[in-house]
Amino acid sequence: MSNGPIVLPSLPYAENALEPVISANTIRFHFGKHHAGYVNKLNGFISGTDMADMDLEMIVKKAAADGNDKVFNNAAQIWNHTFYWNSMTPNGGGEPSAKMAEMLDASFGSYASFKEQFSAAAGGQFGSGWAWLINRGGTLEIATTDNAETPLVGDATPLLTLDVWEHAYYLDYQNRRPDYIGAVIDKLLNWNFAEENLG
Ligand code: FE
Repeated sequence: MSNGPIVLPSLPYAENALEPVISANTIRFHFGKHHAGYVNKLNGFISGTDMADMDLEMIVKKAAADGNDKVFNNAAQIWNHTFYWNSMTPNGGGEPSAKMAEMLDASFGSYASFKEQFSAAAGGQFGSGWAWLINRGGTLEIATTDNAETPLVGDATPLLTLDVWEHAYYLDYQNRRPDYIGAVIDKLLNWNFAEENLG
């Protein structure tokens, strides 16, 4: 899959594991073509440079600091997509338990209110981008980013993400982005991963 220092991480589940919410066909293109494509492009850009010895997070942060858009866009998309695959799990979604439930209640009032706000943010992102649940000093917030932008370079900790680029849902939902968003929230969000990211 890779001819350089950055390697495409394996999916954390089989490509049909998220059906019927996300089809194996979508995963084959999204992971096998889009995600893999960012890895191949980044390796082309960084080979022979001082970035070839850096890990992916360092590359994202250095490229952001340097204003190196070509490297940033590909490196951040690799990081964002790996985070996205881990933000979903078969038989996930719905209301979390324990610590995440308490934090959602404290930050949004209720799980229902979180769901409403996260859906609205993800649905309202104009064009390509990402919706995020982030932790800012013990308070959870919802954020959106354009294109490859990532909270990895911000001052809050990402807990979960949802890819709202059309390639994430178009084969399964065509233009019905809200249906994709609702199904992922109800059936796939990986609350254990979110809790792990609290640190
Ligand atoms: Fe994507």
